[in-house]
Amino acid sequence: MKKTAIITGAARGIGAAVALRLASDGFNVALNDLDEAGLAETAEACKKHGAKAEIYTADVSNYAACETMVKKIKEDLGTVDVLVNNAGITRDGLLARMSEENYDLVISVNQKSIFNMMKHCLAIMMKQRSGRVINLSSVAGLHGNAGQFNYSASKAAVIGMTKSAAKEFGARGICVNAIAPGFIQTPMTEALTDEQKAAILNLIAMKRYGTAEEIAGLVSFLAGKDSGYITGQVIEISGGLTI
Ligand code: NAP
Repeated sequence: MKKTAIITGAARGIGAAVALRLASDGFNVALNDLDEAGLAETAEACKKHGAKAEIYTADVSNYAACETMVKKIKEDLGTVDVLVNNAGITRDGLLARMSEENYDLVISVNQKSIFNMMKHCLAIMMKQRSGRVINLSSVAGLHGNAGQFNYSASKAAVIGMTKSAAKEFGARGICVNAIAPGFIQTPMTEALTDEQKAAILNLIAMKRYGTAEEIAGLVSFLAGKDSGYITGQVIEISGGLTI
């Protein structure tokens, strides 16, 4: 029987690339996002790899919606073996000008979602005595970033949650790791100005942005059989942005 991977924020960008890669690795995929049309496109592409690909439109910042979604995924696909917490947003701005609304929104989508999804998926993984959780953090969570006070806070929290859960669930055979990407070419970074993009490129040792497929390759490794003794780690994938 194929294993099941849940990918949040799978309608586009990194989430869509991860879904495709895990489908080609032999997983059935449960695809979550708010964008139903984007999810349908990702699902079609995953099915070409022979995977079952089911769509779940739900807001990952909503606890009850996550509970219902995970229950439905278990009913539809039988198991929950891999959880990729990828959905995330930015509402950038300097702290002095940041609204309470934009602070709360980013914390709720990027941070509380990890609690919501891990709480319900880990209950299933604990009974199976196996599982992998891969959380999308960011270099901003490791090092901070001017203009991303809310985003950096949420991504630093992801690291704390990853390490705590790794300690709580290691004895049950569950590995929990985080990925900290630098600048990856996706709709999220397309929003940057040309000036910002040029300044960032200058800082990257490899002088290029990363691709969503390169992130998907790392997720594939952390979800696969060769990474069973890696847990509680934060793996930076940034082309040498911070060295
Ligand atoms: P993206 O292109 O903006 O895609 C994010 C996806 O998440 C979108 O499809 C979005 O759907 C979905 N989403 C947003 N809020 C949601 C919610 N409440 N519930 C369910 N789905 C929701 O972003 P990306 O660049 O692929 O980034 C993916 C992850 O990597 C994020 O966690 C991001 O913080 C992290 N990351 C990205 C970079 C980078 O350079 N791109 C760097 C470091 C970390 P809608 O379109 O409907 O909003």
